[in-house]
Amino acid sequence: MLQLAGVTTKYGAISALRDVTLTVNAGEVVGLIGPNGAGKTTLLNTVAGLLQPSDGSVKLGAEDVTGTEPENLLRRGLALVPEHRRIFVDLTVEENLRIGGATVSGDERGRLLNDMQEQFPVLRSKWLTRAGYLSGGEAQQLAIARALMAKPKLLMMDEPSLGLAPILVDMVFDLISSLRNDGVTLLVVEQNARRMLEIADRAYVMRSGQIVSEGSGEELLERSDLFESFVGGGAT
Ligand code: ATP
Repeated sequence: MLQLAGVTTKYGAISALRDVTLTVNAGEVVGLIGPNGAGKTTLLNTVAGLLQPSDGSVKLGAEDVTGTEPENLLRRGLALVPEHRRIFVDLTVEENLRIGGATVSGDERGRLLNDMQEQFPVLRSKWLTRAGYLSGGEAQQLAIARALMAKPKLLMMDEPSLGLAPILVDMVFDLISSLRNDGVTLLVVEQNARRMLEIADRAYVMRSGQIVSEGSGEELLERSDLFESFVGGGAT
């Protein structure tokens, strides 16, 4: 479904991604783990069209989408839940979700708003509340629901459990599993490496802008030498 080949992305003269090759197959949950500054966010932002690679290609399905605008990618089924959520704090929960559904038809948007109320009861109870008043866990659910309003085939999440209380971390991982069951393909950056590997079909380990290892979640869990140095407090 997604294929990166030899992707290099630079900030000025500094290469934050170097010759990255990565595949996500339809129906998979793929994890992306690595220490701070490894280039994980840069990779997701490059795929989402927020950054332009200086070399290499990004393919979505059979199509080369390298350098395609984010909104165009959203219409093709690729959505990103960005780091730090980036919801519109002055708008209500409903208004945030309507913006998320801007690329689907009016009828479809109405159906999806109902779906989101069912899937995220906490959002239903705060429907007319401004997003700036939500707790961290509620805001993360809103960020994920907003991305789901675009009906993505491939959903990318950047650190979805960051800063959440343990019970909400569980909620995020349960949600990832339930999205997989709903047929959504996922590429997830997580600092909670062990939890991510437990639910991922496959994962890539990044360091200094490069992929240094890849394998099934199970295989990589047995190679804790690869990630022990950067697992955070949530590694249980
Ligand atoms: P983190 O977990 O800390 O978010 P990451 O693996 O997501 O780390 P990136 O945020 O992609 O890493 O950063 C990769 C490298 O690029 C780092 O060395 C970072 O300092 C650098 N970098 C990131 N954003 C910029 C920017 N806007 N301008 C210059 N350098 C940047």
